[in-house]
Order: sequence, then C-alpha cells, then structure tokens
Amino acid sequence: MKEISLYIHIPFCIQKCSYCNFYSIPYDAKLTENYIRSLTKEISQYKNRNNTLTSIYLGGGTPSILSFAHLLSLFSAINDTFSTPPNIEVTIEANPATITKEVAQNWKILGINRVSIGVQSFNDDELKILGRIHSKKEIRPAIEMVRDNCTENISIDLMYGIPGQTHETWMKSLQKVIELKPKHISSYCLSLEKGTPLFDEQEQYTFPSEDVQKEMYFRMLSFLEINGFFQYEISNFSKKGYGSQHNISCWKGKEYIGCGAAAHSFYDMTRRENIPDVHRYITYMQNDQSVCKTKKVISEREFISDMIFLGLRLSRGVSLSYLKKEFGFDVTAEYSETINKFSKLGYLTIENDHLKLTKKALFVSDEILSEFV
Ligand code: SF4
Repeated sequence: MKEISLYIHIPFCIQKCSYCNFYSIPYDAKLTENYIRSLTKEISQYKNRNNTLTSIYLGGGTPSILSFAHLLSLFSAINDTFSTPPNIEVTIEANPATITKEVAQNWKILGINRVSIGVQSFNDDELKILGRIHSKKEIRPAIEMVRDNCTENISIDLMYGIPGQTHETWMKSLQKVIELKPKHISSYCLSLEKGTPLFDEQEQYTFPSEDVQKEMYFRMLSFLEINGFFQYEISNFSKKGYGSQHNISCWKGKEYIGCGAAAHSFYDMTRRENIPDVHRYITYMQNDQSVCKTKKVISEREFISDMIFLGLRLSRGVSLSYLKKEFGFDVTAEYSETINKFSKLGYLTIENDHLKLTKKALFVSDEILSEFV
C-alpha cells in the first residue's frame, strides 16, 4: 500500500474576510448538503488506489461550520476508501466563533485530534479591519472548549502587518497566545491581494512599513524561542513533537490527494487542480464528469526543483546527499552561482550536508527561493 496524505477543501465561510483571496463562498445549508454529497463521491473515486493515509486535513474556508452529520458522511467515505491507521494526524481548521462544547465533543468522536484555530489577533480593532467574525473575548473560551472536550493538540494562526498594528499590540497578541498554551503557532505577514476589499480600500489604512513588519517577525522569533517553541519552518513553530505532519509531508515533496472544489493534488508525478467553483463542481460530480481543471505531469527535474524550493522552507533545509543518492542530482554543482551569491550575502549556508536559509534570510525568503524554481 502506498502512503499518501489527504486534504479536503470546505469552501464555505460565514463572512468573507477583507484580506482573503482563498476560494470560499458564503455558507448556504442546501448548497453545503449537495457539496458534501459530491465530495463523498469524489473521495470514493480513490477506492481502488490502495492508499494508506498518513494524515487527513480539513481546510477551507471554514470546515468548523460543518454539522456532525456532514462530517460523519465525510469520515465514513474516507474510511471506506482508504486504509486509515489509528492515531494518524487528523486536523480541522476552525474559526473561534464556530466552536461550542458540543462541536468539540463531536470532533473527538470523529477522531479529529488536531484543531487549527484562526485567531489572527487579540486586538478587536485589528480583527475588525480583517473582517473576522470573532472578537477577542471569544478566543479563550473557544480554545478551552477544544482542549477540554477534544484535544490539546491546538494550533493558533496569527497575523502581523495589519493596518494600525504596532509593536505593542503585536507583542500583546503573542503574549496572549502563549498564555493559552497551544502546541503549535503559524504566523504569516498580511499580504495585500488584488480583488480583496482590503486591497481596494488600502488608501484608508496605514500599514506597518516593511521595516516594521521585519522587526515584528524577528521579535516574534525571539519571543517564541524564549517560550519553548521550535521554529521548524519559515512561518511555523511548535512544541517538541507537534509540528504539522500534514504540512511537513507536503514540504518534503510527498504525495497528497486533494478533494473538493479548488483542491490541489500531487501524485504519480502529476499535479492536479480541481474546478474552483462549487456549483460547477457539484454539477460535474452529479453527471459523473471529471472535476479536474488542470493536470500537469512533471519531469524528474521539476520535481527536484520543487523539493529544493519547498525543503528550503524547513529549518532543517535540504539534504544534499539524499538528492544525490535518489536522483544523482548535485545541488551544489547545479546551483553553484545561486548558492555562492546568497552565501556571500549571508542568506544561505551548508551545514551537516544540508543546504538551508540563514536566520537573516527568513524574512526575504521568497526572493531567494524563487531562484531555485
Ligand atoms: S475564514 Fe479563512 S477562508 Fe474564510 S474568508 Fe476568512 S480567511 Fe478566507
């Protein structure tokens, strides 16, 4: 049996956040019902592949708005289709405003053992600008509800670079997170994406400058380290043994199946993207048509580039001997110019057979990583 991870996309949200350019639409009960039916059908199509799952990830959108009945249908389809060893990581993304005691208890019954909560900030003005549906007072009860009734394996998402955010409000948010004792923290800089309300209304706001964002990032690194968090990826931090298995597997170039509208997959050296439209996705599934929008077979050379590009995001970096042994690929020879250039600038280093970004490079990593594509 071949090992693979599974991603399920739930593209429904109660309200669109002002900065969000992920594929999601407003929650609608009838539409969700039809979507879940189509999703279970798509999952079942993988029945003959003989796959053993290494992790399951329900992302979105806001998967935490799904009812127990809908989640049960999904997990029944997953268990009927794949071999699912006990104790694999099963994550659900959640919005604090959707978590109740009953919801958390249901997740436990279903085998969900990791909850990733989109907190973003502990400042109500910042939450309002982001268009989040929760306020700061809902965060602590939501996290305690998860811990008491489902799992202590909780991840918190935080954001910096928010209009009006200062070093003081940023450090306060970080302090609050630490007090809530999560096992994992993901923290991304707000990026202004075309087509979002925040992009269109950007003139109204004062954004922290790039220098301030950079300082926020480095203050966070020190603060989280002092508080016992290990940085295992550019934007991800965990207590020992609590790194996200699902994401680490993707960053290592392992195979994954994505089901649902707009979901991406990578298996059999092929990248696939599903139709990013719930209505068409449902119609196509009902008519037994393919929901795959694009399909690209990648060459071994492209795969190696992806492994380097993704592997450099991880603190441990990219194993040079592994690529040499598995593919006969000499990273230092193939990328000698790039490696020399960035090593001289103090952005790249080779330590114990691993090519990795230095701490100084972490905030400007996109520019460096793009040279390995
Ligand atoms: S909850 Fe997440 S997916 Fe939904 S609109 Fe907000 S950021 Fe986007």
